Order: sequence, then C-alpha cells, then structure tokens
Amino acid sequence: MLYGAKRTENKRGVEYTVQTHSGNAAEDTKTWTCPFCRILISKGTPHVVAWDERGSDGRRHFHSECWKKFQGPML
Ligand SMILES: [Zn+2]
Repeated sequence: MLYGAKRTENKRGVEYTVQTHSGNAAEDTKTWTCPFCRILISKGTPHVVAWDERGSDGRRHFHSECWKKFQGPML
C-alpha cells in the first residue's frame, strides 16, 4: 500500500490534507523533489504527501521532517 491514513493539519490558517506515503512508486522512474529543501526524496523513504484546499492535483511530496518545518504557502 502506497498511502497511509489521511489527516488534516492547519498551518498559519491554511488547512492541509496530509497523507503518509511509503516511498514506493508504481513506476520505477518516478521521483519526487521536496519543495521545502529541494532535495530528491530517495526511493523507498517514507514521507508525507500534502495538499491545500485547491485539491489533490496540487499535492506535494515532503520529507517528514521538512513537513514539520513547513509553514506554507504551498506553491
Ligand atoms: Zn525536504
């Protein structure tokens, strides 16, 4: 299973939907770059997927530690 339970988090008045991700991709070539530190998330590294009220099309993958530090806005 790729995704864990969904939860919501509020950062500076913006509601984010947050889900854990196992780090395993359906396609081997898929990679993600964390928008907070701009470093690639290594394959197989559990991390966080989050999106704001604009919807899951705008979801971003963050390192778990980076998500804790992130205060928005989601670009
Ligand atoms: Zn990061």
